[in-house]
Amino acid sequence: MIAQPKASHFIDGRHVEDAAGAPIDVIFPATGEVIARVHEATPAVIERALASAARAQKEWARVKPVERARILRRAADLIRDRNQELSELETLDTGKPIQETTVADAASGADALEYFAGLAPTVTGETMPLGRDFVYTVREPLGVCVGIGAWNYPTQIACWKGAPALAFGNAMIFKPSETTPLSALKVAEILHEAGLPAGLYNVVQGRGAVGAVLVSDPRVAKVSLTGSVPTGRKVYALAAEGIRHVTMELGGKSPLIIFDDANLENAVGGALMANFYSSGQVCSNGTRVFVQKGIKDRFLARLKERTEAIRLGDPRDPDTQMGPLVSAAQLDKVLGYIEAGKREGARLVTGGHRAGPNSGWFIAPTVFADVTDEMVIAREEIFGPVMAVLDFEHEEDVVRRANATEFGLSAGVFTGDLARGHRVVAALEAGTCWINAYNLTPVETPFGGSKQSGVGRENSKAAIEHYTQVKSVYVNLGDVDAPY
Ligand code: NAD
Repeated sequence: MIAQPKASHFIDGRHVEDAAGAPIDVIFPATGEVIARVHEATPAVIERALASAARAQKEWARVKPVERARILRRAADLIRDRNQELSELETLDTGKPIQETTVADAASGADALEYFAGLAPTVTGETMPLGRDFVYTVREPLGVCVGIGAWNYPTQIACWKGAPALAFGNAMIFKPSETTPLSALKVAEILHEAGLPAGLYNVVQGRGAVGAVLVSDPRVAKVSLTGSVPTGRKVYALAAEGIRHVTMELGGKSPLIIFDDANLENAVGGALMANFYSSGQVCSNGTRVFVQKGIKDRFLARLKERTEAIRLGDPRDPDTQMGPLVSAAQLDKVLGYIEAGKREGARLVTGGHRAGPNSGWFIAPTVFADVTDEMVIAREEIFGPVMAVLDFEHEEDVVRRANATEFGLSAGVFTGDLARGHRVVAALEAGTCWINAYNLTPVETPFGGSKQSGVGRENSKAAIEHYTQVKSVYVNLGDVDAPY
């Protein structure tokens, strides 16, 4: 087992094992090899995580923000120093090519730690003068926060949730996806090596049931989930029982609109980035590519050429551009959608079959053209390398069709006319929009969904709202005016 961690969990500053928990095999998606085995958290492990977080958070809330920041900043540096090692682990855990993990995963986790370290000491309250009296406000931490992760960006998600929580004085208990449990343990180790007091960043392993126990505990003030819409519904409902704060980062079926006047190479490059990065397993992907009639033939011809040049292979090889899907279940699900696309009459431009080394869960990057709005592949999130190209003629019409979905995570527009670019994104129902770009999510930018794609925003100054609460203090400088 080439990636076996020291123990399954990291709690109260220590590695913790309890082999009584159900085993979870961690599989390298490119070969099917079992690379590690962890155990689900037992009730005793969950209790240790909750008790230590509740205890540690009280102390942490009293630490000066600039001191909290120093620790996070140190952790960011350690992550960058160890980028290669962390990227190799991420590649084993997820199957994503090392070409991607070395630039996108630990690196963006470090960015979040550095950004929120900078932001922590800037958080202040307000004063409201009221003549003789006044009110001042204080931004306080929420308390113990629970983070629940998806499997596509395990290191990034562990940091995007942990960094703002810790920066503003909270504790974080993080439950990684059961499919990719390894990287969050490394994040916890590094945070503690950087000086984080024990108990403030605990990692517990488990499937959904472990997440549900955490979300239901009265000591928990907030839950931040990254996952699918159906899971979001369940976790939101559980959190509501205890009137807990929530951030929901859920799925999408985002539109990417390409107008006739777009730069062809950029539009094709944008569509490729919007569909094939991480083997298409990206929540914000622009999987409904609406292409205007005048550019359609040239667009499809160039798209086919560039798609067919993508190098699939062992994700550990630095020349590999696309790895496998994360699991056998995901492979089956995506193949099912490809069959649905063929059955419903979409035209297969390229791909549509398994590829790469036999033992892995690879699918050739796939493009369907002549897709119509009612087809399943145009309505449901596939979460694999499957692009659906739809035709359009008029701006108003494409905006209406782009918005005709229950999702609202992201959207993109490619056009040579910037006025049109702004006009169209103004009308699109999505949390993040790009003009002449796609899938860029720097930490300075709020990220999150509208409609069923989520609630709340991660990253940026917007995260202050989601990891703190306001206390108002009325100060009376005179006598009490009581009518009794
Ligand atoms: P998932 O919904 O199956 O699982 C997400 C997490 O929720 C896992 O850790 C799982 O164990 C946990 N979980 C499941 N049931 C639970 C319950 N009842 N209570 C508490 N926790 C529970 O999602 P996935 O398959 O791991 O990830 C893919 C999905 O995540 C896609 O829909 C994708 O769009 C979405 N996603 C969204 C974002 C975003 O930022 N908006 C980012 C990445 C992925």
